[in-house]
Amino acid sequence: MKIGILGGGQLGRMLALAGYPLGMSFRFLDPSPEAPAGQMAEHIVGDYDNEPALARFLEGLDVVTFEFENVPVETARAIARKVPVYPPPQALETSQDRLVEKRFFRSLGIPTPPFEPVSSLDELRAAAAQLGLPAVLKTRRMGYDGKGQYLLRGEPDIEQAWQALGSVPLILEGFVQFSRELSVIAVRGHDGQTVCYPLVENTHREGILRTSIAPASVDPGAHASAEEYAHHAMQALDYRGVLAIELFDTGSELIANEMAPRVHNSGHWTIEGAETSQFENHLRAVAGLPLGSRECVSQSAMLNLIGTVPKSEDVLSVPGAHLHLYGKAPRPGRKLGHITLRADDKEKLAAGLADLRRIVDRS
Ligand code: AMP
Repeated sequence: MKIGILGGGQLGRMLALAGYPLGMSFRFLDPSPEAPAGQMAEHIVGDYDNEPALARFLEGLDVVTFEFENVPVETARAIARKVPVYPPPQALETSQDRLVEKRFFRSLGIPTPPFEPVSSLDELRAAAAQLGLPAVLKTRRMGYDGKGQYLLRGEPDIEQAWQALGSVPLILEGFVQFSRELSVIAVRGHDGQTVCYPLVENTHREGILRTSIAPASVDPGAHASAEEYAHHAMQALDYRGVLAIELFDTGSELIANEMAPRVHNSGHWTIEGAETSQFENHLRAVAGLPLGSRECVSQSAMLNLIGTVPKSEDVLSVPGAHLHLYGKAPRPGRKLGHITLRADDKEKLAAGLADLRRIVDRS
């Protein structure tokens, strides 16, 4: 089976790595000649709306998926008229606009922070008065890793936030006093079968995911809620593939922040830590194959390598550590690889993670 993937970053690369043992082959479309997936599969260099590049990309493909959620929806829809596209383009459309996404969650009874659309300074003042401060002003589109956001601590921040972001449509969200951030990764197959990985606890710094711990220590009720959110969202979208939902845990409730209609950084631990990885299960869903078990084979932690890469010999000297490098040139703030650590219990995991953090921090 030949699978086309829109986007050729590390997610695409890890999809290909998971698909080769299943006899799949891959072709990527990505505007960057240095896209990491290009080192291991056919890579068409071109923009997502470049007609000749798209025609070459589509030749002989059985199915198309994406690893980048800002692929233009029109492109996904045009492709879907020729070759099946999973997850459905509607999932892309929903996740690309924070306002549409939050209304979607709300329509399904999935809790969200309170929010208001904002398209003028007056609307921003009114929304701030209604939601109260602090609040978070965000661009509706193209925000990621904390970019396109402004925390309004008090009224004097309103005008500055408008100057910083006001050139594009915005959303103001009430500030959620969460105790931690979690995510749920779920996958829905061709026949509607769904598999939901255990909740993951995530730590961010400067808006970028640093560490994931799986499974998160949560009571069964929290896991059941998250699974229900994912199930409802996937059913409503007639979904096929992996869906990730980022959640705020307030202690009493899980509040949905955003969703990603693709494999997700907080699911990388599944490569070594689960019976079937998120990458393999995404491909199984897209290819119409039965889904695999999401059982954890150990306690796992995932540590992102951002900006610099430690020496492989140092990382691999830690028992249970598995190194993944993405073949990207180092640059500050860039995700260059990750380490998955496996251990039999939480204590050993914490000790190994502390060792790995020391190694990563001095690189
Ligand atoms: P996002 O780009 O929406 O994932 O936001 C990046 C980070 O900002 C999140 O991981 C949270 O730590 C924080 N954040 C976003 N929205 C809110 C909110 N409504 N209340 C509190 N913190 C938030």
